Order: sequence, then C-alpha cells, then structure tokens
Amino acid sequence: MSVSFSLASRRALVTGANTGIGQAIAVGLAEAGAEVICAGRRACDETVAAITASGGTARSVLVDFADPMAGRDLFDGQDIDILINNAGIIRRADAVDFTEADWDAVMDVNLKALFFTTQAFARALLARGAQGAVVNIASLLSFQGGIRVPSYTASKHGVAGLTRLLANEWAAKGINVNAVAPGYIETSNTEALRNDPERNRSILDRIPAGRWGEPSDIAGAAVYLCTPAARYVHGAILNVDGGWLAR
Ligand code: NAP
Repeated sequence: MSVSFSLASRRALVTGANTGIGQAIAVGLAEAGAEVICAGRRACDETVAAITASGGTARSVLVDFADPMAGRDLFDGQDIDILINNAGIIRRADAVDFTEADWDAVMDVNLKALFFTTQAFARALLARGAQGAVVNIASLLSFQGGIRVPSYTASKHGVAGLTRLLANEWAAKGINVNAVAPGYIETSNTEALRNDPERNRSILDRIPAGRWGEPSDIAGAAVYLCTPAARYVHGAILNVDGGWLAR
C-alpha cells in the first residue's frame, strides 16, 4: 500500500483559526489539499484570505466556546472529516490567589468544550459511516506542572488523558484521535512570558533548538496526524518543542 500525505477531498474544521497556532494549522491543512472551515469567536478573515489567495478553499464559522456546548450543532449536515481542537486560553495567578472564575473559564474552553465538540464530531462521523481524524492541541503542561497556571495545567493534563481515552474507544471505528504538544511558541498566548526578560532567558536557555517555536512549526505535525500516512497512529501525543522535553 502506498503512503499518502494528501488531504485532497477532505474537509477540516479548526477551532481558534483566526491567529497563532490555529491559523498556521488551517493554512497547512489547505496546502495539503483540504477544504478548511475556520471556527472562532471572531471571523477568521485573515486566515480565509490567506488560504484562498493560495488557491485553497476556506470559510469562517462563528462559535464561542465560553459556552462549552457551543459546538454541539457544528457538524450537522457538513460532512467534516477532520477536527482540530486548537482554541484555548490561559489565566495566570499564584495558586493561593487563583479564582474560581479563572478556573472555570479555562476548564470550559480548554477541556469541556473540547470534549463535547469532539463528541458531536464523532457522532456525525459515525452516523454517516465515515472515517475521520481528531487532533487535540495539548501542551508541555500536559506533562509538566508549570507555574502560576493551575487551571491551564489541569486542562492540558485532561486533554492528554482524553486523547488516549477517545483513541481507545474509536480506533476500531475508523477515527484517529491524537494530540500535538507544542513547546514555547511565539503567539499572543505567550506574550507575557516573552515580555519578562528573566523568564524569556530561562526558557531559551533550556530549549535545545535555541529559539522559540513559530506557529508553522506546529502545523506540519498536526497535518501529518490527519493524513492517510498516520492511519495506524492512535492516542499519540507528539511533542513539537525544540527538544524541551528531551532535556
Ligand atoms: P492564541 O494566539 O491566543 O490563539 C488561541 C485561539 O483560541 C484564538 O483563535 C482564540 O480566539 C481562540 N479562542 C480562545 N477562546 C475562545 C472561545 N471562547 N471560543 C472560540 N475560540 C476561542 O494562542 P496559541 O498559542 O495559538 O494557542 C492555540 C492553542 O495552542 C491553545 O490551545 C494553547 O493552549 C496551545 N498551546 C500554545 C502554546 C504556545 O506556546 N503558544 C504552547 C502549548 C500549547 P481569539 O483570537 O478570539 O481570542
């Protein structure tokens, strides 16, 4: 059997595709041949424009995962084959000061919305007897504790666990569920760290590649996990971190 990295005639939905890692993944999926639906709480105009300018097909859909059940109808009648659960937020405060509001907001978007959106996706796939792929965006904090980000760390550990659970349940049903764990990537999510010279230096000192990652560094791994070439990959969490976890 030949190895294919093509996503021609596949339709993908990427959450949080207006910026950062989600935008890079959406562009990468389109380059591999997929039609891309860019889902966000704001229209993904820049991403759609970049994809169409390169000859690809993309459109925006508005969805706000502050309501964790907001994705329940996203897949009705859409024939979507690929789901990238990328939307995520982070709140920073010392653990002794951390508020219930900051706990709930992060867990709702990063974990509860991810689960119920994926459930809706799988129900739609199974109903039409189709095969599909899910890629969850995990984190180094799926494996490490981090500091001053308790709900983020809890949510990303949860993402790793759910990735494995869903892979166990759905591998035999033709749905590949995997995750990518980005290292330190230059996006708005990490701006506060890069603006703190001391944190920035200590982070850079530990990265074997010697630089922050770019959103496009994550796209290749996410796209690969959606292609036929990854058909026997289930429940994997692929670290894309410049070597951070190898250190
Ligand atoms: P980002 O630039 O802040 O992107 C986050 C995306 O999620 C944005 O599109 C954002 O939309 C969307 N989003 C947030 N809340 C949402 C909601 N309620 N409903 C719908 N969309 C929502 O940060 P990023 O770094 O690219 O983050 C993408 C993913 O990578 C996240 O899951 C993050 O945890 C993960 N990650 C990032 C790093 C890193 O170093 N940057 C490392 C590990 C993991 P708005 O633009 O409207 O806010």
